[in-house]
Amino acid sequence: MTTSTAVNTIQDFYGHFINGQWITDQNSLPVLDKYTNEEFSRIGNASRRIVMDAVSNALETFRTKKLHPYERYEILLRAAQIAKERKEELANLLVKEVGKVLKDAQGEINRGIQTLIASAEEAKRIAGNGVPLGQPGNDTKMAFTIRVPVGVIGAITPFNFPFNLTLHKIAPAIAAGNAVVLKPAEVTPIIVCKIAEIFQEAGLPAGFLNVVNGTGKEAGDYLLADERIAMYTFTGSPRVGRHIKSKTGIRKVTLELGNNSPNIIHKDVPDIDKAVDLCVTRGFSNAGQACISVQRIYVHREIYESFVTRTVTACRSLKVGDPADPETDIGPMISEKEASRAKAWIEEAVQQGAQIVYGGTRQKSVLEPTILINVKDNMKVVCEEVFAPVISIIPFDDIDQAFEQANHSSFGLQVGLFTSNLQLAMRATQILHFGGVIINDVSTYRADVMPYGGVKDSGVGKEGPHYAIQEMTDEKLIVINL
Ligand code: NAD
Repeated sequence: MTTSTAVNTIQDFYGHFINGQWITDQNSLPVLDKYTNEEFSRIGNASRRIVMDAVSNALETFRTKKLHPYERYEILLRAAQIAKERKEELANLLVKEVGKVLKDAQGEINRGIQTLIASAEEAKRIAGNGVPLGQPGNDTKMAFTIRVPVGVIGAITPFNFPFNLTLHKIAPAIAAGNAVVLKPAEVTPIIVCKIAEIFQEAGLPAGFLNVVNGTGKEAGDYLLADERIAMYTFTGSPRVGRHIKSKTGIRKVTLELGNNSPNIIHKDVPDIDKAVDLCVTRGFSNAGQACISVQRIYVHREIYESFVTRTVTACRSLKVGDPADPETDIGPMISEKEASRAKAWIEEAVQQGAQIVYGGTRQKSVLEPTILINVKDNMKVVCEEVFAPVISIIPFDDIDQAFEQANHSSFGLQVGLFTSNLQLAMRATQILHFGGVIINDVSTYRADVMPYGGVKDSGVGKEGPHYAIQEMTDEKLIVINL
């Protein structure tokens, strides 16, 4: 059975998008408004057969239809234009489906548009390298490489930035000439169905983007089991990242995973108020549910008291509650279960000696922004990824001690350092073991064009359209005997 979608409306049900058609089967899952907890739509829960059909169609598409780089450029630019025209509708959907406050939702749509534009631009400049063969015995040889699409890419995406992070997978994959089978997070799938609509309207031929909805355990695992998929691109938790690695053998995998982001505020911070403002905004935006959210803040003891006071003061003006209210700064977490898990971590830390200097209360899925002091390295709120609006402020006496504490983590995505000392900043870039070191801004800084990805348990491989395209293409060597 097939159904069609109407632009600008949210349907009661979305199935699976295969070969340009919406396919439905018997099984379905509810999609909830994350603030009211009311069901507002349903999605399909793909069987193994549906996932296999999606992969078969993507493979057939990849083998039989070719898009010239300029066509890919035009499609991606058109998709950006359509998203721009539908900005308000898309942002409102994020408010409902993710519980994102309106300004965060609008910000995410704007960033997704930029991801599409950057991918469009990259589509036109995918190139290999000249290969010098300057060794004896190669006088009659000339060599160079070209970059070719890997084939069918399996993409699995998380709930927290379901528009922009999904586009960080689909747009470079299409720019590089691949076909994609995507499985979105089952709690935030509708925005991804909207992305499928947008690409169809932008003229992407059927089969280059197939979307299978469903749970990770079922649809996700069926996708991992399909050996016809050449590469997986995943963003999500380290737990699932490990599982994906274990299931995919020698096939290519990129993993964008978690972090318990450290930020170091040295005594020579250029502007303490700016640093406070960034830590508060980026520790609590998206209800702390960003992989590079400010979590651990190491502050030099000379400015520690002042930093804590200013941070608490900055929190007092934050409005918490209904994400649809344009004045709201912090909305609900993704579920009551997650908010209650974060609250339990706070309580455990308090039992172990931590002190709450702001927040700490919970109303259903809304956790008040929370600041902890007197924390210890082994508390969950410090050593694990809290993924909630919870920050800890920790004093240090010696900057090398702060570097050590920042590095003392199983994660290594991004770190922030505030200092006026250029030499110290440069030394820090050599000591801090992270995918990105951000000087005089917080760990949360990300421009969508930059190389983004972590070390250690934060993952493997880079995103950012130019870098993702490197991951999503194979370098093929050409040798000519003259
Ligand atoms: P998650 O790992 O629970 O789920 C992510 C996706 O994996 C979902 O689509 C889910 O259905 C799927 N999945 C779950 N089990 C699976 C299985 N057995 N096989 C295949 N797929 C399966 O993550 P989440 O809760 O949606 O997102 C939060 C996590 O994502 C955090 O750890 C956060 O740090 C991380 N994240 C990382 C980045 C980054 O760029 N590094 C960005 C955003 C989020």
